Amino acid sequence: MRQTERVTWTRRDVLVGAAALVVAPRARPRAQPRPRPRAAAEGAVPTDPFPWGVASGDPDATSVVVWTRVSPPAGSEGAVVLTWELAADERFEERTASGDVEVTAADGYTAHVVAPVDGARWYRFRLGEAVSPAGRCAPLPTGEVHTWKIATASCQHYETGYYASYRDLVEWGPDAVVFLGDFIYEGAARPVGGEVLRSHDGPEPVDLDGYRGRYAQYLSDPQLQAARAACPWFVIWDDHEVENNYAGLVPQDPAESAAFPARRAAAYQAWWEHTPTRIARPAEGTPTILSRHVGVGDLVDLLLLDGRQFRDDQACGDVALSFDPPCPEVADPARTMLGAEQEAWLANRFAAASARWTVLGQQTVLTDITLPDSGVVLNYDQWDGYPAARQRLLEAASATERLVVLTGDIHLAGVGRLPGVGVEFVTTSISSTGNIDPAATDAVRPLLPAIVDIELAHRGYTRHTITPDRWTAEYRAVDDVAAADSPVSTWRTFTIDPDTRDAVAAG
Ligand code: FE
Ligand code: CA
Repeated sequence: MRQTERVTWTRRDVLVGAAALVVAPRARPRAQPRPRPRAAAEGAVPTDPFPWGVASGDPDATSVVVWTRVSPPAGSEGAVVLTWELAADERFEERTASGDVEVTAADGYTAHVVAPVDGARWYRFRLGEAVSPAGRCAPLPTGEVHTWKIATASCQHYETGYYASYRDLVEWGPDAVVFLGDFIYEGAARPVGGEVLRSHDGPEPVDLDGYRGRYAQYLSDPQLQAARAACPWFVIWDDHEVENNYAGLVPQDPAESAAFPARRAAAYQAWWEHTPTRIARPAEGTPTILSRHVGVGDLVDLLLLDGRQFRDDQACGDVALSFDPPCPEVADPARTMLGAEQEAWLANRFAAASARWTVLGQQTVLTDITLPDSGVVLNYDQWDGYPAARQRLLEAASATERLVVLTGDIHLAGVGRLPGVGVEFVTTSISSTGNIDPAATDAVRPLLPAIVDIELAHRGYTRHTITPDRWTAEYRAVDDVAAADSPVSTWRTFTIDPDTRDAVAAG
């Protein structure tokens, strides 16, 4: 299916194809001063204190984090006590565990309860007479695991699409969702028109109130809420939870450098508040450790990475679509994507991995998509801009039996080869704009020999069915991201050949 003969491409072909591999436009309106956020609870007792739904996440063999955010009643004075309940049945007749949890203004009135999940499949919260929607939860399987079904998703820009993918995901019924980043986008509201189908609320967030407001808006979407309630999620962040293409403490715009540490801290806090995660609450002056290991019996060692907080700044000015050879900075062996500590942690995890599949959940494309011969780097934000760090990762990964890398960020569906090591499945965006020209797919495919296949024109998500002998990745594509009730269908299904470790199209 893939073209292997040499093809002569004009500079224009290359530009058209390569343009499709660079998302995240650089030019944005600058942040405006923020008006005060709307207070959700000033004055009135909310009729629905749970307007952002419920979620569960980071399960292990015996417990799961159950989450909600409450709209506090008037006069709450900074703290509200909720009751949480887990049950074996949807009607909560067979209750397995319950308790009280105090949520506070300091954490945006969000609850993160580590609840015993033995025997439970449902959870909910109560505030007085009010009852939250019920969500589904489950422990991670242990021992001999025959099947684990996960969905990967990323990049759900609220303005540029509806979340039909999530309806389809809920219908599939995965055991877990692995969300790979760009849960929110930080851009200021744009008027409806063109690709903007619904507007962000307010200007670009730069402080905690601003980011909290942005999460509240995203979580008001019923299809996203339903997906968060459908099964446990494993969530990592990418750049837009803070700001496009930030690197460590380097903001996109150098003029913002002085204010950026406080801005990033506010963004991490708001992310933590709104994510059903077990990771520690961000604390001032210390790194927030996002990376973690998820052991799924003898089937999967899932390693979740943070490719934003500790990385060096993008090389060569992070220029997009330059066809100059890369500047010498790119090749500097000291450059890091993960930071020294996370890199050492990962190498140890690779060495200790004993499950059938070692799986990375991470942000940016790992497959080498530099242009053959010229070495041109199409996108300095991806691992192509950190080649020595990538080489170190791949060498450490060669200790594992079979590596599968799960990636988001770039708003296209792709399957890449990591020679001698494994396969990368890049999930397309839930709704964020990518390339919409179907011809771009054909233009870009022959440029990149490490790509097994690629599809640029559709939004969607990916279904992974993992068994000891077979990994099946089914790429789902939304017909029309402008329609909340759009049909969703399969673009293509890939499996991993157990002998060659290569991905092959299965339909
Ligand atoms: Fe994105
Ligand atoms: Ca991104």
